[in-house]
Amino acid sequence: MGIELLVNLSYVAAAVLFIFGLKMLGSPATARKGNLVSALGMFIAVVITLLDQSIIDYKWIIAGVVVGGLIGALVARRVEMTGMPEMVALFNGFGGVASLFVGWAALYGFEATTFELITIVLSILIGGVTFSGSMVAWGKLSERISGKAMVFSGQRIFNILLIIAIIAASVMFTISTGPATSIYLYVVIGLSLLLGIMLVIPIGGADMPVVISLLNSYSGLAACAAGIAINNIILIVAGALVGASGIILTQIMCKAMNRSLSNVLFSGFSAVSAGGAAAKIEGEAKAMTAEDAYYVLEAAASVVIVPGYGMAVAQAQHVVKELQELLEKNGAEVVYAIHPVAGRMPGHMNVLLAEADVSYDLLLEMDAINPRMDTFDVAIVIGANDVVNPAAREMEGSPIYGMPVINVDMARNVFVMKRSMASGFAGIDNPLFFKENTRMLFGDAKEMLGNIIKAFS
Ligand code: NDP
Repeated sequence: MGIELLVNLSYVAAAVLFIFGLKMLGSPATARKGNLVSALGMFIAVVITLLDQSIIDYKWIIAGVVVGGLIGALVARRVEMTGMPEMVALFNGFGGVASLFVGWAALYGFEATTFELITIVLSILIGGVTFSGSMVAWGKLSERISGKAMVFSGQRIFNILLIIAIIAASVMFTISTGPATSIYLYVVIGLSLLLGIMLVIPIGGADMPVVISLLNSYSGLAACAAGIAINNIILIVAGALVGASGIILTQIMCKAMNRSLSNVLFSGFSAVSAGGAAAKIEGEAKAMTAEDAYYVLEAAASVVIVPGYGMAVAQAQHVVKELQELLEKNGAEVVYAIHPVAGRMPGHMNVLLAEADVSYDLLLEMDAINPRMDTFDVAIVIGANDVVNPAAREMEGSPIYGMPVINVDMARNVFVMKRSMASGFAGIDNPLFFKENTRMLFGDAKEMLGNIIKAFS
């Protein structure tokens, strides 16, 4: 068997592993295995590429693998569950900058055709936008910079002019010769980095999940363009898979928020939202103690638990499971209601609850739970805020009006566990706290759940 055939067969095997891995990631029961299967595909792809490309000097590659591997392993071990979205933003950014460098490096060593030059400039351009955009997203999510949408007058015109300048510089890059090529290349790199920043700063608050999955898609497209530029089939396949899955996830997230992608990207959500709905909320929030909560829960026949970002912050997933078991022992039916954007990344709650060994069958999606919400004796909201905000249904002026939410206020009793009256990620007030059937359990979710569990025993 010729070396070329072996290489191509290995690439096909790697692509098949990627596709099966992705499919397995679709269900929590097979996700872990899916990750391993995809990683095996990537391992085969890397080894075969190294063997195929007649690399002259492995010293640099080994040094890169050791340094990168060490940093990656260290960061992955140290990251908290709450820091995962930031980590994903960094991954996207590094993917983007890697494609930028691959495209750039492809310029050297051979005479590129116009088509190859176009793919090179595309990988540099999309890679640059992905890198700087992801860095801004990382800064916003980790609160190193303000999470609020930053908008200024003339922003759209500025962006349009920026895009026109990038297109012009890209065209000049592909048709020019000699030293001018490098100058246009630097202009494209600089402007694409600026464009990435400009595209993400006007997006804030509740729209962050969409940005993360969109940047994920961009990083795939950049890799795909880099794959075409250096004529590497597996990079094209892997990039296309990431690009397509990122776009599908983006669409799912937009649907979950009942917004169009263009509305998310250009409307500056939290810049217009501040205080919008706050003024109209009237009434008084009623607090209760863990002991009071115990008496109601002890008599409840059905309980729905609605987790949110605060459960991740408090790391309360294991105590939640404990309470679930106690309630079940007491004869109650217990289910979990999961909003598609609860937490700070897609699937955040599912991952946490899986970690605590909560059975997947008990996790119900919003559409399954809402029609029967009024049959539940108690809805326990654990560190969730935006995803249970009835303003989305009731307050036409609210920035989240029309966003599908879990209608906990329809349950007979609602317990809201959080530390204060502070608003959630979207920065808007929540009329749920003031409803007749709502009681607030102020405190850290883990501690509060611990106190209720103590009362049970
Ligand atoms: P929110 O951010 O709306 O609310 C979380 C609540 O948890 C806060 O109000 C906070 O209140 C409370 N909290 C924080 N720490 C604790 C603690 N230790 N114990 C108890 N409560 C705590 O979260 P949701 O999950 O309801 O909504 C998710 C929001 O994030 C949506 O706006 C969504 O669009 C957005 N988002 C989602 C992403 C995704 O992909 N899923 C990604 C990025 C953003 P207090 O301070 O009073 O304790």
